[in-house]
Amino acid sequence: MVKITGYETHDVRFPTSLSGDGTDAMNTDCDYSSAYVALKTDSELVGYGMTFTIGRGNEIVCDAIKLVSQRLVGKDVEELFADMGAAWNLLTADPQLRWIGPEKGVIHIATGAVDNALWDLYARSRKKPLWKLIVDMSPEEIVRSTAFRYITDAITKEEALAMLKEKQASKAEREANVRELGYPAYVTSAGWLGYTDEKVARLTKEAVQAGFNHFKMKVGADKASDLRRGKIIRSVIDDPANLPEGHKPRDPKALEGKNAGPTGAVLMIDANQVWDVPQAIEWVRDLEEIKPWFIEEPTAPDDILGHAAIRTALKPHGIGVATGEHAHNRIVFKQLLQAGAIDVVQIDSCRLAGVSEVLAVLLMAAKFGVPVCPHAGGVGLCEYVIHLSLIDYIAVSGSMERNVLEFVDHLHEHFLYPCSINKQGRYNVPDIPGEGYSIEMHAKSIAEYEFPHGSYWVGAAAQKK
Ligand SMILES: [Mg+2]
Repeated sequence: MVKITGYETHDVRFPTSLSGDGTDAMNTDCDYSSAYVALKTDSELVGYGMTFTIGRGNEIVCDAIKLVSQRLVGKDVEELFADMGAAWNLLTADPQLRWIGPEKGVIHIATGAVDNALWDLYARSRKKPLWKLIVDMSPEEIVRSTAFRYITDAITKEEALAMLKEKQASKAEREANVRELGYPAYVTSAGWLGYTDEKVARLTKEAVQAGFNHFKMKVGADKASDLRRGKIIRSVIDDPANLPEGHKPRDPKALEGKNAGPTGAVLMIDANQVWDVPQAIEWVRDLEEIKPWFIEEPTAPDDILGHAAIRTALKPHGIGVATGEHAHNRIVFKQLLQAGAIDVVQIDSCRLAGVSEVLAVLLMAAKFGVPVCPHAGGVGLCEYVIHLSLIDYIAVSGSMERNVLEFVDHLHEHFLYPCSINKQGRYNVPDIPGEGYSIEMHAKSIAEYEFPHGSYWVGAAAQKK
């Protein structure tokens, strides 16, 4: 019998504010950070998890992770693995900790780190990458692993089971397909607000050459600048002369309703919650010329009816609405779907409280027929989300070609099993038996960037004196 004996947390911060990486209309000086946890057992087995923050306050999340992890100490891992839905309920049901949520804010993202670490432990114990552990489960096991509380008015366990059973026979075919092709990705790192026009043009061209055909630009600080940068990006992505050698035309079905240009290139825009509802509508209408597929996070992430109003107003302009990276929990997604407020579901792998809650959102999105394009970037998020998109495609929704998974080429070198992109601009399938959820960090990176006593931060503090 293997038991969980304890945990270790690390407040790891990377000084990305120095380069302008990650700058958008709301987040102007991000130090990409990881509130990182290792769940220890009385065997060699260790489970790794983290949640992402952008700097100050990361220590508060680490403190919360300790409180949530404590709930697992002394538990038999096989008993936890046998019912991961029950394990999730255990993590979220502390009668005192619930008060500082419930299921939102610091305590919830901390729960995300811990639930992900438990899933990592499970996958490693079975010597499978996380996605493979889950797609190999029976429909009954997947439903049992899902956080189902509070969503049965949108999807019942019986409906979920029927949906999963319908996909069961063709799972092997989809797995083979995605192993061969990779999972479609899009690029955000060309369009940060902190970059010069020249840098935006150069990075966009490089992204086209690398095989990408979906691109995202940050907007919302200055309308004239948004239009100017949007036109620069469109001029690069719409020019057939920039396409890589051997480029094959995209499947028109995959581009339907995406405002694609003449080369099949798609532009998305992201405001990171900067506007009120009427301002969002007016601003995005004024950007119609650059033909965005969707506006991401136009307003407050909790404003379900506001998103619905924006979507209705922009529909005649051919522009959709996407959100989710700051949606607290599955209940917010449930309402966004019920209200017809979004065209794209953007789950976050560690703002939702881990894999069990993500499964709930994947099932609801599939039922409502809305594609899931997970949020990534930051640090560690790309490593996580490829697993979630593979689960969605192989076991849940069965569709991939209309979806795109965010990719940002930052900080992958700090992970033992970094994600990677193939020559067609698609994620490779993680395939190392012992990599679990792919989130284990190099000990050297932790030693260097742990805040405030890691070697980098000690050096930075000495320089300031
Ligand atoms: Mg975003």
